[in-house]
Amino acid sequence: MLRTHTCGELTIKNAGEKVTLCGWIQRSRDLGGMTFIDLRDRYGITQLAFNMDGNAALCEKARTLGREFVLQTSGTVIERSNKNPKMPTGDIEILVENIIVLNESKLPPFTIEDNSDGGEELRMKYRYLDLRRTVVKKNLELRHKLSAETRNYLNSQNFIEVETPYLIKSTPEGARDFVVPSRMNQGEFYALPQSPQTFKQLLMIAGYDRYYQLVRCFRDEDLRADRQPEFTQIDCEMSFITQEDILNTFEGLAKHLFTTVINYPVKEFPRISYADAMKLYGSDKPDIRFGMKFVELNTVVKGKNFKVFDDAELVVGICAEGCGEYSRKQLDELTEFVKRPQIGANGLVYVKYNSDGTLKSSVDKFYNEEELKKWAEAFNAKPGDLLLVLAGKEEKTRKALCELRLEIGNRLGFRKSNVFAPLWVIDFPLLEWDEETNRFYAKHHPFTSPKPEDIPMLDTNPVDVRANAYDLVINGVEIGGGSIRIYDKELQKKMFKTLGFTDELAQSQFGYLMNAFEYGAPPHGGIAFGVDRWCAVFGGSESIRDFIAFPKNNAGRDVMADAPSVLSQQQLDELNLILKQKA
Ligand code: ASP
Repeated sequence: MLRTHTCGELTIKNAGEKVTLCGWIQRSRDLGGMTFIDLRDRYGITQLAFNMDGNAALCEKARTLGREFVLQTSGTVIERSNKNPKMPTGDIEILVENIIVLNESKLPPFTIEDNSDGGEELRMKYRYLDLRRTVVKKNLELRHKLSAETRNYLNSQNFIEVETPYLIKSTPEGARDFVVPSRMNQGEFYALPQSPQTFKQLLMIAGYDRYYQLVRCFRDEDLRADRQPEFTQIDCEMSFITQEDILNTFEGLAKHLFTTVINYPVKEFPRISYADAMKLYGSDKPDIRFGMKFVELNTVVKGKNFKVFDDAELVVGICAEGCGEYSRKQLDELTEFVKRPQIGANGLVYVKYNSDGTLKSSVDKFYNEEELKKWAEAFNAKPGDLLLVLAGKEEKTRKALCELRLEIGNRLGFRKSNVFAPLWVIDFPLLEWDEETNRFYAKHHPFTSPKPEDIPMLDTNPVDVRANAYDLVINGVEIGGGSIRIYDKELQKKMFKTLGFTDELAQSQFGYLMNAFEYGAPPHGGIAFGVDRWCAVFGGSESIRDFIAFPKNNAGRDVMADAPSVLSQQQLDELNLILKQKA
């Protein structure tokens, strides 16, 4: 090897040793008589020292070397006079006897520091330089640890990892597929998998019993901070189990990852039904690092001639503890917040519960103090608290209040990124009605089993049918989701019918799975977790991009390699593709 040690391991114990290091120049300092270079590799930084009095020529040479040059350097480990307790190698430096420049570097377009001066787009263009930054490297190390510990845990539980194909049949249910034209079957296309769902079910039918895969999935959706066109799942499936077994097995995995990856032991995960999550938090992925549950006020506030409340489907609020002293300006800010188009509330009603016990509201014209007292009682509020109330259509109002709750949670410091609150959300509805296309969609996917006791309702009131489906949520982020599957051909047929598929369409798209159900399908179920999101939550970041080595930008582009790109005429001809002329 070109080196005897890495740049992260030498300490005072090595003093006097002759060593050879390789790495990149992080920075250099010329102090006249002495020159210092910080040499960096994946493992850390070691200070190189050059002494004008000792070896003037070498010192002169060191001064000519620029940032990010790649060096091989030999010398003696010596104790530093000016120690740096913040660095593991901070007690020593290398008195350099020889340097070889292995490669030069152009001046990088941004500083390779934790707080870089480069904007996001520039750093993405030079992602290999961005990846040299310690903060990014730490994120990828966390990701590696999470993947490795996932494999450790699942292997120990008798799961086997099986690879499933990336070129599959397009089944445009759920998100949009990415498609790949086939040269050998002209006019026909593969799709990249949105998930290995049908394959893992087929593996259960094949008797593999416990499957997992750390697998790339592809969805052609609009991008956000928590979405990339390709992302990685921990995809799992088990046979001969109930929902309870799945929840326990994967709570085990989650606890293992909490302990081994971030050393944050967690207790038993609370479970909450979808219906309760919507009622209490206005969200199917509640952030339960803090309380501030919704309180419904219909019975308390109606009938006092305040039209907004009288006409509303739902009047609902939260109690912001200790915010009774909020100023006019702060209250205006909150009103502006809920009126933003993304949130869409018409206004915000507030009640200040003053510390002297009096109550003051924005609707004093309609409600006297005695009535406001009743509101306060409904919230279990105490002097010093602030009640915030929204009214309108039920679903929209709950969503808006959910955003307001999170905003207040931020303002009160309840959403610290180093505090974790995992939970299971269970009993999701099986179906979701879509106004635009006038049909039902599967809330999870079409293979999810209804709760057996709800099956008769499929014919009468399908919206009320609950599924054996569950999500793992951490800090308000959906980390994973899964379900117990249908394994009976007739029930699967019925499900497709409810979703508006003709028998022919169901057969042409999913016939291979339905046929397999006729050859001894065991009861089975599973779950998949988003690796990128899980890493982001563990790493305390909102953006999954920070945890992906080579991510796409918001327009789905790889700005470094400049993809997607046009094909040559020859490639198009081979694929028999004719592009529409742009107008
Ligand atoms: N395939 C599902 C998904 O990607 C997860 C599952 O049901 O196991 O969301």
